[in-house]
Amino acid sequence: GLPITVRSLSEAIGMKTGELAKRLLKETNQLYGNNSPVDFDTAALIAVEKNIELVVKRQKTAEEILIEEFEQMATNVDPEKLRPRPPIVTIMGHVDHGKTTLLDRIRQSNVAAGEVGGITQVIRAWSVMHKVKDPETGEKVIESPITFLDTPGHEAFTKMRARGANVTDIAVIVVAATDGVMPQTEEAVAHARAADVRIVVAINKVDAPNANVDRTRRQLYNLSLLPDNMGGDVQFVETSALTGQGIDDLLDAIVIESEINLAGELLADPARPAFGTCLEGYMTADEGVMATVLVQQGTLKKGDILLCGANYGRVRSMQNDQGVNIEEAGPSTPVLVTGLGGVPNADDPFYVVEELTTAAKIAEARETKDREKTLNRFAPVNVENFAATK
Ligand code: GDP
Ligand code: MG
Repeated sequence: GLPITVRSLSEAIGMKTGELAKRLLKETNQLYGNNSPVDFDTAALIAVEKNIELVVKRQKTAEEILIEEFEQMATNVDPEKLRPRPPIVTIMGHVDHGKTTLLDRIRQSNVAAGEVGGITQVIRAWSVMHKVKDPETGEKVIESPITFLDTPGHEAFTKMRARGANVTDIAVIVVAATDGVMPQTEEAVAHARAADVRIVVAINKVDAPNANVDRTRRQLYNLSLLPDNMGGDVQFVETSALTGQGIDDLLDAIVIESEINLAGELLADPARPAFGTCLEGYMTADEGVMATVLVQQGTLKKGDILLCGANYGRVRSMQNDQGVNIEEAGPSTPVLVTGLGGVPNADDPFYVVEELTTAAKIAEARETKDREKTLNRFAPVNVENFAATK
């Protein structure tokens, strides 16, 4: 078969070879000429940023077939058993526009009174219980949980998507009214659109003396982000992460988005064995391997046999986002688990399996696959045909 080269990839995705070589350098720290081979995963990752999916047509290895069959079986969900689950929200935007401050503010305003300040954030994902106003009485009545992910940025977003692991339902695009739309704002919007997630706009820093909300709005309209009075369906919320102004409205907007625009989509079967995505993994001196995982389907229980990427083990302990030990975690819940035999990667899928032998077999297949990928990184890829499809 034909290897993917810089030239052929450039034609397939409509990116100039020079620009592509630069992008490849950033991704792999290697220099590329027009005829240099590009490994399939890297090619697919860059193509996905252009909203193009690369299709590889070659013989699958025995390991790949084994993994695929396992994943198909392990993620088979019974539509009859689906129940509503909380939305999963990622905050994106240009650097310094207030993402971290906004996340901190959201977390603080929604922990039980008395706990404020006493909470150590153990994981970079957490759930808040937002009380929504009854439109008739104006009182806060219904409690609506929302899960926030503090993702390391757009790259993680793109990588997850290239692997088909979409862990976000709603992207909050933060734009500082002081700066207005900046390059990373546009990038964030492009990523959110490519991933087909709902967008809510937070115009932040409205407290600042040099804030220009109108100009910022116009710039966003130019990106075709339009509110309903202009024929669009994007909610705009003005916030100050510094003073707390508008934070409640932002959470209301997220709930509205979930209940109206995502109605019937935010579903999971809480009764099945869990599966989901690893958000981060690391090693500690005291506890050994720790991993933050996001349960997407089913309920993860202490003692479950967990297969996470190429690692596995019994769940020895589970902590929620407030560092409290828990016995089980349902859909849309991020938890910190111990018990895996090795450190998993962010984006690794996880599955609860019944038998340790199954976990061992699939973990080994993954390891073999990853090793081969590393060995073959710069060898011509055995691609018979690679087609670009929108
Ligand atoms: P990030 O890079 O998007 O995570 O931005 P940060 O949350 O780190 O905020 C960058 C700077 O902007 C910090 O100095 C914040 O204190 C400040 N900042 C964040 N939100 C606001 C806001 O609503 N108003 C004002 N005046 N400053 C803010
Ligand atoms: Mg930050």
